[in-house]
Amino acid sequence: MRSRITGSAVARYAIALPLFVAAVFGGVSGCFSRPLPTESIPIPIKPNPTPAPVPDTVEAIPTDAAPPGPSIGVGPPVRVALRVARDTAALRATGPWRLLDARGGVLVRSRANERWHIERRAARTRAVRDDGAATPWTNGTVLQFPDDAGTVQSAGKNYRGALGFVATDTGILVVNHLPLEDYLRGVVPLEIGERGPGERAAVEAQAVAARSFTVIRLLNSKAGVGRSPDFDLISSVGDQVYGGQSAERPVADEAVRVTAGLVLMTAGKVVNAPFFSACGGETAAAEEVWRTDGEAHLRRVSDKIPGTDRHYCDIAPRFAWTRSFSGAELDAAVRKYLASVVEVGRSGPGQVTDLHIERRTPSGRVGQLIVRTSRGSYIVRGNDARSVLRSPSGELLNSSYFSVSVERSGDKLMRAVLRGNGYGNGVGMCQWGAIGRARAGQDLRSILRTYYPGTTLAQLPPSLLTP
Ligand SMILES: [Zn+2]
Repeated sequence: MRSRITGSAVARYAIALPLFVAAVFGGVSGCFSRPLPTESIPIPIKPNPTPAPVPDTVEAIPTDAAPPGPSIGVGPPVRVALRVARDTAALRATGPWRLLDARGGVLVRSRANERWHIERRAARTRAVRDDGAATPWTNGTVLQFPDDAGTVQSAGKNYRGALGFVATDTGILVVNHLPLEDYLRGVVPLEIGERGPGERAAVEAQAVAARSFTVIRLLNSKAGVGRSPDFDLISSVGDQVYGGQSAERPVADEAVRVTAGLVLMTAGKVVNAPFFSACGGETAAAEEVWRTDGEAHLRRVSDKIPGTDRHYCDIAPRFAWTRSFSGAELDAAVRKYLASVVEVGRSGPGQVTDLHIERRTPSGRVGQLIVRTSRGSYIVRGNDARSVLRSPSGELLNSSYFSVSVERSGDKLMRAVLRGNGYGNGVGMCQWGAIGRARAGQDLRSILRTYYPGTTLAQLPPSLLTP
């Protein structure tokens, strides 16, 4: 393993800043033609070029202020879409800041007690001071950089690096531009929860998995098949949950530092490293869950503790669960969500009369669920069943690792009880299993070798992401 990053990395960031800006703008193409987001609509993304994980956060952590360490400031630049503001977006920071246009020219140098915001008109933006003074309208991304050791702020959170603002058809897309290693510090604590010293190896494994996942997204952007011309990832479960500097925690910071630059590789290539909360007994091969031919390192792995009846992830809150639907709740879920996964006629799916598991996958997950209704039978793929059998509040079914029992009165379905295991899609690293293994004394390499068999841990080749 590489030695820890020292203070010299901070100096390196300062030197690298102009290069970072160049790299950032090298990737911005200013496309305004696709459907674009609004405040209440999720950031629009292209279909995944690689299978998306469901990185269910294992544990919510409090959002009170973290002790901010210095920027690590290394690694290739990452662009993370944070949100879409409707017509104006405030420019905030913990200290003085500068606003640069798409060619690197300075538009604004902030002064104390001044307040500025970004305004949009069609595909252009400008910065406006509270007294009405404004910069000229400009095309392309404008970037807000903090001076010195400050951080920029958006929607009440602090972010390292810079904030980019780009006009879209319906609003102002706010994108955090920052080096990879700093990005990971805002991801790891939200993805694996706040962990104790005896669980360090799991946090390190999470850092490597998140780094590998991010690198795959960056390679997709570089190849022109990424999420968007304006960003590489989104800051929620569609990619990885990211909370900026406000989310950073000491144990996660340390895990990012000691694994700096390390990714999972096979045959000289970085591999996708999905993860999820708890497998409930055994992980799934990629082809059991996604429409894919499979990947050699994403295969079934038992989480059984050798010589016992226990599993490494049986400490997870949702290792075993039960969800019960009344007939009316089931009808409502099917009416609302079935059409998103299978073809349903204009008159709707009708009333549910039975749920039947037609086929299971090799790891025991539901491969095919038959939903019988008053209007016919619908075949639902196992992982899609999670999207259909949602709770009344819209929460996905925990996993596709379940059995069904149905109570009937004549032809009418009165109640369906689902008993299941695990939380998340089951492909890749079981986060609670990694925590259990860390508690049992396994190290980073052992955990990663288990959940991503056949991979090796290696430094990200520096040339891989250069333009
Ligand atoms: Zn597990």
